[in-house]
Order: sequence, then structure tokens, then C-alpha cells
Amino acid sequence: MIVANWKLNPSTLKEAVELSFSIEQTKKNTVVLCPPTIYLSQIEYANLGAQDCFWQEKGAFTGQTSPAQLKDLKIKYCIVGHSERRALGETDDQINEKVRVCQSQKLIPILCVGYGTTVEQDDLEVVDVLKGQLEADLSGVDASQVVVAYEPVWAISTGDPYATKKVATPEHSEKIAIFIKTKYGAQRVLYGGSATPKNAAGFLQQPHVDGLLVGGASLIAKQFNEMINL
Ligand code: PEP
Repeated sequence: MIVANWKLNPSTLKEAVELSFSIEQTKKNTVVLCPPTIYLSQIEYANLGAQDCFWQEKGAFTGQTSPAQLKDLKIKYCIVGHSERRALGETDDQINEKVRVCQSQKLIPILCVGYGTTVEQDDLEVVDVLKGQLEADLSGVDASQVVVAYEPVWAISTGDPYATKKVATPEHSEKIAIFIKTKYGAQRVLYGGSATPKNAAGFLQQPHVDGLLVGGASLIAKQFNEMINL
């Protein structure tokens, strides 16, 4: 599974539609495009996801996006708990509510964990941070129906993880994926953090890493098309 997180890009609907048209429909991987919410109803692609949603389905909640509204647009997936949202103050309790409401609307949550990890931590220290997040975020949830994306926050948006001091190696991601699957019963674990056509194969070759969550490289059609055809 390869998920494109366009974040707050591009700036116009025209560019968003053009970008979506330039992404191949491939049978090699399940490819999910997550454009900004405002473009979701205008983009046609086999699998679409939202980048976030609210934990209530309707009511007096100015500016929020309802999971029921997403479902009505035939959106299949929803990213929840991305580091960039946690950095804005989103809590594990709120993330848990979002995961639950996604499931009740039959949207598949793509739960991001890895905020708060640091480049200096060893595998066990990383696991300690993830435990706190996973236990809270998956409380009362059928984890087998959640896609978990392990995204060490320090590896996000670097341009290339191999240029950083300590890298998120495919081997490290594999260990973390095994931990998440064995301890929490998730069936699909993705890696995210500066994935590019250069390093993608290394992650995808790991037996327990089931795909990638891609930010920057998903905005460059040529690069993303290479990745989804690996
Ligand atoms: C992300 O947005 O989740 C992400 C992994 O971004 P990037 O690929 O740019 O690091």
C-alpha cells in the first residue's frame, strides 16, 4: 500500500486535478491519494483518503470535517494522528476518538505514530514512545482494521533520510512493524519519513513493512509513479 499525503499542496484545484491525472492507476500496489479536504470531491482516483477528520459526525463544530461527510463522498481512508497535527496540540484521546468514529463510518484509519521519537533513540526507546501512543490511540478499537504508519518524526520532510545523522533504516522499520503487529494486532504497517524512489525498495522488501506513507515525493508525479510500480 502506498499512500500519498499531499499535505497543504497544491495551491489550486487545477494543479490538484492535473497531479491526480498524472498518477498512474497500478495493480502492483493499493495506491491512496490524500489531497487537501477541499479538493476531495473534485478528484477522481480509485482510492482516496482524507488527511484528518473530526471525532463528531455533525453539529456545532465550525471548520471541522465530518467522517460521515467523507464517507458520503466515497472516501475510503483517513489519516489520523499525523505528527504535524500532534505538533499543533492533538492529543492521543482525540486521536482515539477519531480512529473510533472512522471505524464506525467504515473509513479505514491510517494511524500515524512516531511523534516524540528522536534520532538518538535506540529501538527499545522508540518502542517505549510508540507504546504510549498505540495503547491510547487504539484503545477499544479493532486494530486489525487499522493501517498503522510508523513515522519517526525526525525523518519526515528531510528530503532524504540517508542524509541525516542516523537514518530510519529499513531494518529498524521492520523491527518496529513486527512489534506493532505482534503486540497490537495491526495487519498492515507502513513506513513514512522521506521515502523516495531511491530508498523505497529497501523498505518495501521488508517482510512486515506493508507499504509507505509518502509526503514530498508524492507531489512529483514521476517520482511517485516510480514508487507505486516497485
Ligand atoms: C508525511 O507527510 O507523512 C511524510 C512522510 O512526509 P515526507 O515523505 O515528506 O517525509
